[in-house]
Formats: sequence, C-alpha cells, structure tokens
Amino acid sequence: MYTFQEIWGNQRLLQHLRMATKKQKTSHAYLFIGGAGAGKRLIAKTFAKYLLCTSRQEEPCGVCESCRVFDSGNHPDVIHVTSQKKTLGVDEIRAQILETVDIKPYRYDKKIYIVHQAHTMTIQAQNAFLKTLEEPPGYAVFLLLAETGDAFLPTILSRTVTLKINPLSEEDISNYLVEKGVASHEEAIFFAAYGQGRIGHALELIEDETFRQMREDILTRMSRLSMIPLSEALLLAKEWEIYKNDYRFLDIISLWYRDLLAAKTLREERFIIQKDKKELIFSAANESAEGLAKKAAAVAKAKERLMQNGNFRLTLEVMLMKLKENETR
Ligand SMILES: [Zn+2]
Repeated sequence: MYTFQEIWGNQRLLQHLRMATKKQKTSHAYLFIGGAGAGKRLIAKTFAKYLLCTSRQEEPCGVCESCRVFDSGNHPDVIHVTSQKKTLGVDEIRAQILETVDIKPYRYDKKIYIVHQAHTMTIQAQNAFLKTLEEPPGYAVFLLLAETGDAFLPTILSRTVTLKINPLSEEDISNYLVEKGVASHEEAIFFAAYGQGRIGHALELIEDETFRQMREDILTRMSRLSMIPLSEALLLAKEWEIYKNDYRFLDIISLWYRDLLAAKTLREERFIIQKDKKELIFSAANESAEGLAKKAAAVAKAKERLMQNGNFRLTLEVMLMKLKENETR
C-alpha cells in the first residue's frame, strides 16, 4: 500500500517528487490539482509516506517504523485537514493548522499537513493560512489537494509548487481494471470510458449498483427511442427526473451515440466500446453519421445547460426533440 510503483500514469510528476526528496530539495508547500478521482489523495499520501520514511530508498520502504505507522493510518506527524462544511473556513484552518503548526513533530523530522478539498478554502481562510505559508517552520510540509487552481489567491499560488495530475488514457485505466481483477476485459473498456481519465471514478462506478441499473434503463430506452412517437419520447423528460441529481445518465447517453457513430462509420465490432451491447448498437445505427453527430452534440449541450442550473424538464425536452429529428434517413 502507498508505493510509487502502484500509481498508474503521471510518472514524470512522481519522478519529480522522488528526486526532490532524495536531494532533500522538497518545497514547503505543494498544490496538487486534478479532478475528483484523479488520484490526488493517493499521490499525496504516497509522497508523505516517502518523505517520512527513514530508509531512504527509491520507494517508501514499508518496513521502517514510520512506514508501518503510516500504513496503519495513524501517523502522528501526518495531519489531515478537512471540513464538515462545504467550504474550508478560517475556523478550520485555525484549529487544524495555525494552532498546531508551531508544535514540533512528535517523532520524525517532518510534519505533513494534507489539506483536502483545498479549492474550497475561503479567501479569509487563505489569508489566515498565508502567514504560515510565508514563514513555515522548517519541518512543516503542506500538501494541498484541489480540483482547480482558480480558487486560490495569487499569493498562495506563488508560494506553492503546483503539480497537475493528468487524466489517464482509457487504455491505461482499462488495463488497470483488468489487472486488479475488478472487471472483465469487456466491462473494463466501457467503465474506463465512463471514468473519463480517472481511475478512482471508474472504480466507484464498477461498484455502484445504482449506476449499473441506470445504464441498463437508459440504454434500453435509447435503443427504442427511434421506434416511439415524439409525444411518448417527451415523457422521458418527466420519467428521468429520478436522475435529476445524477447527471451520469447523460454520460451514458453520450457514450451510446459515440458507439452508434463508430458502428455506422467504422462498421467493425472492435471499434465499439460497449461490446456487451453490440447487437443493440448495430441495429440502432441506422441513420447518417452527420445526424448521429448532431445528436451527440445535443446531449453535450443538455449536460452543459444542466450544469449551469438550467431547468431539468425543459432541457431534457429540448434534447429529446433533437434526438427525434430527421429519423427518416
Ligand atoms: Zn520506510
């Protein structure tokens, strides 16, 4: 658990962290930026473990006392800064960082603060934190985990080393899922596609029974969409209100059109991501590629509208109308 070897992708970033540690040239503060499920926590924790490892090897050794305590989840010199609220406010920063940072590490030569959801830090909290960041005690290391860098004051950014965690390729993810034995080869390919470059996200979806049911429901509906009249299709806008807080159903529809396009233009099974649904896909891919591309665009547009708090029913009705256009071709 928690070795660099186990982390997939982002090898240059990991190499950078390793070299800096070996040369004892690490910074006092790092900002890891990546989407949810991109691996921020895993990378930061592995780095923290490595910084504290007393064996000084290529990897956190896993056997020294520090590594063992780390793996138990109770390392005295690793502090997780979190909030119960939607934001990380000045009170949390005060109680969890400012009031403890001057106390020397218990046992080891570093004291590491892992700040979760750091992009939710309020401006007030950032200002309070800034003073510590300007003159941190020599032993302190701050690892800020954030989904975006936009939320930070320039003064915070200029005092941290920003490291972007890149999404992995779908192939990397599906290989990982197969190797870990959590999905069959067939399933791994489409869960990797739903995961959108994030292993954590793909893993979550695999275990999520609700998602599997949603996928079956949506794909059954989509495969019949061209056979039902528009008036009936529009009723789906109401029916899908059960997914009002879960826009993943739109990702499922997107991937459906992606596969229809592949089936239509490339005509070979190997280009289809959802091989478990290949019969449905080939029989539904009976309109022009141009028409399918337009429909895919309509789905993307609907997702965008919903993300900007567009009206759910209305947005879906508009989308469904577009999905029912030009079906005679
Ligand atoms: Zn160790």
